[in-house]
Amino acid sequence: MNGTFNDVVQLVYLLAASCFVLGLHLMNTPATARRGNQVSVAGMIAAIAATLALVIHQNLITTTGWIVLAAGVLLGGGAGLYAARTVKMTAMPQLVSVFNAVGGGAAALVAILDFSSRGSGVAAQVSVPTVLDVIIGAVTFSGSIIAAGKLQGLITSAPVTIPGSRIINLLIAVIAVGVGCYVVASPSMASLGIVIAAALVFGVSMVMPIGGADMPVVISLLNAFTGTAVAMAGFVINNTGLIIAGALVGASGGILTKLMADAMNRSLANIMLGGFGTGDAVVAVAGAGGAAVQPIAADDAAIQLAYASKVIIVPGYGLAAAQAQHEVAALADLLESRGVEVSYAIHPVAGRMPGHMNVLLAEANVPYPLLKEMDEINPEFARTDVALVIGANDVTNPAARRPGTAISGMPILDVDEAKSIIVIKRSMGHGYAGIDNELYTNPKTSMLFADAKKGLAELTAAVKTLVG
Ligand code: NDP
Repeated sequence: MNGTFNDVVQLVYLLAASCFVLGLHLMNTPATARRGNQVSVAGMIAAIAATLALVIHQNLITTTGWIVLAAGVLLGGGAGLYAARTVKMTAMPQLVSVFNAVGGGAAALVAILDFSSRGSGVAAQVSVPTVLDVIIGAVTFSGSIIAAGKLQGLITSAPVTIPGSRIINLLIAVIAVGVGCYVVASPSMASLGIVIAAALVFGVSMVMPIGGADMPVVISLLNAFTGTAVAMAGFVINNTGLIIAGALVGASGGILTKLMADAMNRSLANIMLGGFGTGDAVVAVAGAGGAAVQPIAADDAAIQLAYASKVIIVPGYGLAAAQAQHEVAALADLLESRGVEVSYAIHPVAGRMPGHMNVLLAEANVPYPLLKEMDEINPEFARTDVALVIGANDVTNPAARRPGTAISGMPILDVDEAKSIIVIKRSMGHGYAGIDNELYTNPKTSMLFADAKKGLAELTAAVKTLVG
């Protein structure tokens, strides 16, 4: 009877795992991404139901345990639901970071509790994943809290370094791994405590020196860590569902991290050792300080757009902050109806989270084929009449092509190669990296100073007036 019950539970875990894989696959394109989410949620519900059935069947939980569990589900589930429903798109990275902290911390707690209940006779097949879970989970917990604090502006987003920080980080990592090996050879809670403390400190010292502009890669890396910690927790308590779900998050997070690091021309080894993103000193961009900026009125910008044959729209964080996705789609539709060829240039780290611009523009039903990735669109700028930059700053900054700036080495959109450039933003304010953008003082550039939503509405109205 027990055997049959366990077989059914294992089968449900397999079904749940298939849902996760299928869900991930469906998330490959915006057209099926929503269904992918639903399939994954269904898999997660099945896995949770199977786990509940298992603990009830094996009578693993006391009455007090059930009360604590129910209170935890209500409190945690309620807080998660509220946060996810109310968060602004622009604050999504902070939320993801907090969720990473919670996931990594929970995975570490599972291993710590299991370890403390086993006494001294812990076999290597349990103590090894326990140590790995505790190290990765604790690093993720403290690192993600620091990352969320930086993104929320509670901690300075500038790199915070102390002399010799790389050596100190390496030393802390050696302590965590060294004492971790000792825990495997001679299990004790005291030694595990040292591993936890070292890993928590490492999380803080790894993220503090990272500059704001490099934060997307870090969040993605910490997400991969969360998945790996969860998979280790699965090995510790022998739960196949946790192992598969964690491995999927770890692997997909790892791939995303690599893609983002490549997109920003950063190395993963540097991230792991800390000091990542400190770059060189932030220097003023040549020409930006004193050079003249050409403001433009909506009417004049409308003339350029209405009579162009090719326009590339470059969306950035400001478009999301202004929630101007519907206005930009309306302007693009109007231009297309006049025979203008319109496309959107999507930089991998435009906005404040991976895929931010894709999600935003999908919300306004912008046809997906119009969204062009950086490598595909960059050769197009040279034969473009007007590049319309909306609330994008760092991802267009030619300073990235030179050494010595906070974004040096980051591939950018080659907006400055367009025949004419119109930038909509509210002021000469900096982007996330906090440096001047010499694109704004380029003689080909005109600045339409306005909130993105308002500026786009004015532009659309002006084009309509112009062409009747
Ligand atoms: P930036 O952060 O470089 O610039 C955004 C610009 O938008 C600002 O200069 C601001 O100028 C303007 N802006 C803000 N609000 C409005 C508004 N209401 N209307 C019009 N303009 C507005 O954005 P980018 O997208 O170019 O670059 C993204 C940056 O964020 C990169 O440095 C990236 O590394 C970082 N990042 C990316 C993450 C990701 O995963 N994608 C996560 C975390 C950080 P003004 O105030 O003058 O209007």
